[in-house]
Amino acid sequence: MKTPVPDYLDEVLDSLRNDTSGANADYIPELAEADPERFGMALTTTLGRTYAAGDADTEFSIQSISKPFAYAAAIIDRGLDHVLELVGVEPSGEAFNELSLEGDTHRPKNPMINAGAITTHSLLVGAEASQGDRVDRALTFFSRLAGRDLRVDERVCASELGSAHRNLAIAYMLRTYGIIDGDVPSVVEGYTRQCSILVSVRDLSVMAATLATGGIQPVTGERLMDPGVARHVMAVMAAAGMYDAAGDWLTRVGIPAKSGVAGGIVGVLPDRAGVGTFSPRLDSHGNSRRGRLVFERLSRDMGLHLFASD
Ligand code: GLN
Repeated sequence: MKTPVPDYLDEVLDSLRNDTSGANADYIPELAEADPERFGMALTTTLGRTYAAGDADTEFSIQSISKPFAYAAAIIDRGLDHVLELVGVEPSGEAFNELSLEGDTHRPKNPMINAGAITTHSLLVGAEASQGDRVDRALTFFSRLAGRDLRVDERVCASELGSAHRNLAIAYMLRTYGIIDGDVPSVVEGYTRQCSILVSVRDLSVMAATLATGGIQPVTGERLMDPGVARHVMAVMAAAGMYDAAGDWLTRVGIPAKSGVAGGIVGVLPDRAGVGTFSPRLDSHGNSRRGRLVFERLSRDMGLHLFASD
């Protein structure tokens, strides 16, 4: 008899619990304080059924996992052509917070690294939008994707803003080249608020399942984006979601994914499911160590690699 899904998920977590390598992110003081033993995962099918294991309802800040979803919102709000003029879609092969732009256009290389994500955030709603409008847009859109009202963790946000020198440097560089406009500290504050939205792995799996269906939230049935937007976002996740480990991840795991420094990872299995994992210790690329191992196991055990032909 086949193992029921919940037992299988419990077994996956148990088999990886002993791996304590890596370390919490420490450049955001509040994240350094998080309990490193937390470990949870959830999988939501495109029919809207969620299976969860471990710390499935523990909330943590979404951080960079906000990037693909804010990117989708910016495309909806401003059109793909406009967004592409300002943010590229090439893998950067660099760390998430690298101070670098494309040589000729001065665009950030993609929306998954901070330079691209700060630009994407600045595009939300419209040219005249305030910081409050943009944060509201992210919060409302993410809440509809998750199917419940999400909120910003003000402590995490304040903690990151206290040492946001690098993101400020990136944003001033973008402002110098006319990629973003307006008040730079306010754009960085809005982006940091977006990163401080609290989610659980359950939320992440439903959000990802909405990409997997091509834009229909599988629990509420609401269409939140066109299939073309979902396809574009998943493709950029596959190319650049895991930063300088993107090629290694795509070959080994083969699931479009995005990680965040709080320890979350979201993965999308097109037409099948969304997956969320949470474990705060990160590897040298800033990706959750045990989260990565979970995805490797799912890919192997369930034949989920995008390019698997067997
Ligand atoms: N808010 C974080 C930052 O901008 C997000 C980075 C991440 O999750 N990789 O540095």
